[in-house]
Amino acid sequence: MAEDYYQVLGVNKTSSKDEIKKSYRDLAKKYHPDISKEKDATEKFKKVSEAYAVLSDDTKRQQYDQFGSADFQQKYSQEDIFRGFDINDIFGDMFGDDNPFNMFFGGGSKKRSTRGRDLIYELEINFEEAVFGCTKEIQIQILDLCDECSGSGSKDGKFDTCGNCKGTGQVRYSRRTPFGTFAQVSACEECGGEGKKIKIKCKECNATGRKTKNKNIKVKVPGGAYNEAKLRISRAGEAGIRGSGHGDLYVVLKVRDSDIFEREENDLYLNVPISFSQASLGDEIKIPTLEKEIGIKIPNGTQSGTRFRLKGEGVPYLDGYGRGDLYVIINIITPKHLSKEQKKLFEQLRKTEEKKSLLDKIKEFGKNLK
Ligand SMILES: [Zn+2]
Ligand SMILES: [Zn+2]
Repeated sequence: MAEDYYQVLGVNKTSSKDEIKKSYRDLAKKYHPDISKEKDATEKFKKVSEAYAVLSDDTKRQQYDQFGSADFQQKYSQEDIFRGFDINDIFGDMFGDDNPFNMFFGGGSKKRSTRGRDLIYELEINFEEAVFGCTKEIQIQILDLCDECSGSGSKDGKFDTCGNCKGTGQVRYSRRTPFGTFAQVSACEECGGEGKKIKIKCKECNATGRKTKNKNIKVKVPGGAYNEAKLRISRAGEAGIRGSGHGDLYVVLKVRDSDIFEREENDLYLNVPISFSQASLGDEIKIPTLEKEIGIKIPNGTQSGTRFRLKGEGVPYLDGYGRGDLYVIINIITPKHLSKEQKKLFEQLRKTEEKKSLLDKIKEFGKNLK
């Protein structure tokens, strides 16, 4: 049965473009095969992406509304649906070429076989650098273009046309089978499908067109980046044989933990210890957020484990669309070492406390937690 794109994205017909985008961004992140632990993540990712490809495009959305799910999906092929849709619009270069769209189109796989290899580099950054973004310079050793021959592999840049394929790079031959004769095309073996042959080989690179070099590369980490996120730097990978194009460089982020904040996606958690007296009498305390120190009010009678939510004080979203929240979690610390005076005061306090049965106390405690 045809699925309703609005339902797939958890939005409705009157939802704005921004709402649809936000919903897609959340779902795509949840199901992205690179990072998702969900079952059938790839399938689900494809589904939400298909829905978003249609609903994010004014023309397609209007057609969809007009025809309805079943008719729309009959009228438009997968390729039509994804035409003009670029996931990088949403995620920048966060997710590389490995996205499942290549499964629909066989995208890029042809070019990839001849171009240089993709490379992976692990980059360690600290907590704040991931939260606010940063630019890092890394040095890598890679097979890059040979300067001597500018990557052509030919000493003087000259080539002969391959006689075997007459420069087409392809050879045709007929194959006889019980069902008839078929014409087949394959890459020319003489020239490896290039259609040309080097006249004088470049000695510097042994005619491969590439040499090992040390390269400095600037990596721009976007604010809101997270551990294990993959940044793709287009064309910064290995050079291909005889100038057939560079692969990509994938930078995998290793984010160090913060000393004080725990991070869960875009929300932060901060454990704050306070004393018995602060909890019972109430107090105003100073706590750190990512950027500054702020005062928060502890009401009297605060229980251990109480959470305060500071909206928008969490980690920025990758696309600059708002921020997560900061949760302050109160921990009441029982003093281990009492001074003489404190001991006396506690003993006095104890005398004033009501003598309730343990059962009553347990019941009351339960009520307080609610
Ligand atoms: Zn060379
Ligand atoms: Zn040839």
